[in-house]
Amino acid sequence: MTSETITTHPGSFIDGAPHENRGAPIALVNPATGQVFAEVPGATAADVDTAVSCAQRAFADWSALGTAQRGEILGRAVAHAEEHVDELVRLLVREQGKTIRDARIEIPKALDTLTHYVGLSKALRGAHTPMLAPGVDGYVLRRPLGVVGAIVPWNFPTTLLANKLAPALVAGNAVVAKPAGTTPLTTLRLAELLGEGGLPAGLFNVVSGPGASVGEAMVTHPGIRKIAFTGSTPVGEHIAALAAKGTKRVTLELGGSDPMIICDDADVTAAASAAAMGRYYNCGQACLAIKRVYVFDSVADEVIEAITGKAKRLKVGPGDAEGVQLGPLHTARQRDEVADQVERTLALGGELTAGGSAPDDPELADGFFYLPTVVVDPPAGCPMETEEVFGPALPIWRVRDFDEAIERANASPFGLGSSVWTRSLARARQAAERIEAGYTWINSRTKVYDELPFGGWKSSGYGKEHGEEAFDYYTESKSVVVAGRE
Ligand code: NAP
Ligand code: MG
Repeated sequence: MTSETITTHPGSFIDGAPHENRGAPIALVNPATGQVFAEVPGATAADVDTAVSCAQRAFADWSALGTAQRGEILGRAVAHAEEHVDELVRLLVREQGKTIRDARIEIPKALDTLTHYVGLSKALRGAHTPMLAPGVDGYVLRRPLGVVGAIVPWNFPTTLLANKLAPALVAGNAVVAKPAGTTPLTTLRLAELLGEGGLPAGLFNVVSGPGASVGEAMVTHPGIRKIAFTGSTPVGEHIAALAAKGTKRVTLELGGSDPMIICDDADVTAAASAAAMGRYYNCGQACLAIKRVYVFDSVADEVIEAITGKAKRLKVGPGDAEGVQLGPLHTARQRDEVADQVERTLALGGELTAGGSAPDDPELADGFFYLPTVVVDPPAGCPMETEEVFGPALPIWRVRDFDEAIERANASPFGLGSSVWTRSLARARQAAERIEAGYTWINSRTKVYDELPFGGWKSSGYGKEHGEEAFDYYTESKSVVVAGRE
């Protein structure tokens, strides 16, 4: 195997320019080869402090602009970034490990989300209540919060950030963002590109480095008014506890274990295809992913055969090879965790119909690969049902009827997404009402729309991203009473 050339980067982007972090270097590993390809110094609390001060200065001018003016400036910056999609795709594949195909979905989607909020910047309207009393009107004013801290994980570095950056900037805030310590490069380049495209310096700062130091320095920084977090439930709960001091605003997009219910009257072919796509996309490393399938007994064999067949046919390999459908997991630890969940489940029972190990191709031996896996009918309450499986392994259960399916779907601490496949309108409506989750897709792939609010129930977090609702989480509202009587 050829060794990689090790590149370096100063690690942060502050006040419109690259900024040399003062912390220890972090080695970035190519997940497809296991080799170090870059070294990036981590930020320290002092670097975070510099970023916050710059953001506070930039906020003063930015928040004084009209909303549509902010939208126009952001729109021009996004148009510039759009000319560099291929470069961003390559960076993302390299540091994250995902396939070119998946990166070509992620990068345009991130830029689309920014554009969506540029459009909304011209459409925002508020509430007005005439005649609260004779001669007295009321209206609701919205003001930006100030400096917003955005902390995101490594699975979708750019879309998860865009979900926060777009409403935050359009609403008039400045942002300090922290990508995962293992995926800083695409985000740093995106910030540079938006700056080249005319986004004023200091509005979008990126500090890279480990969560425990850089992330906590953000969460506890008195100059940051709100933390928008996407990541695991334990870290989210820890952040919410830290943020309680200082009554810092927090939104939490956390883990998920999305159920899919396939009824006996479903379009079974389409459902099986959506299940495979929903589970193996991004090598299963997605918060919204089909993580548990509950299928009616009478169509179970057909569904299991179809999903197992798809899992076995997926082409596994390095993300940068054309035609590869499933890349490596992001880290060796992530791969080992999924393997362990599958093993602990199979030790209790269930039938392995696909995968269940790393591939035996010697070419892939140094990367963090794991075969697309299907486990059928493990015992209820096994690790693959109760824990979040963040990789390409899918459990499938046969169920008697609709009520059992709903009960099992809800028997999870999580409540992020969910889906149901049925031709019965009554069942579809009931599923939408009864499943405890922030999204229910009916006869649809699990696609997230910028138009609709998205956010978890239960241990999947609180607060909404996407939709006009996102603005509520980047502004304070004020009720104003105007008494105009002489
Ligand atoms: P994680 O460990 O919670 O990390 C997420 C981010 O938080 C990273 O930037 C991480 O930095 C940082 N961080 C870690 N410890 C911190 C601390 N003590 N204080 C402040 N920040 C800290 O998440 P992960 O396990 O890497 O990512 C996968 C998880 O994200 C899964 O549970 C997945 O379901 C969830 N997720 C949810 C959504 C959603 O929208 N609901 C979307 C995608 C993913 P470092 O990585 O540099 O340590
Ligand atoms: Mg982590």
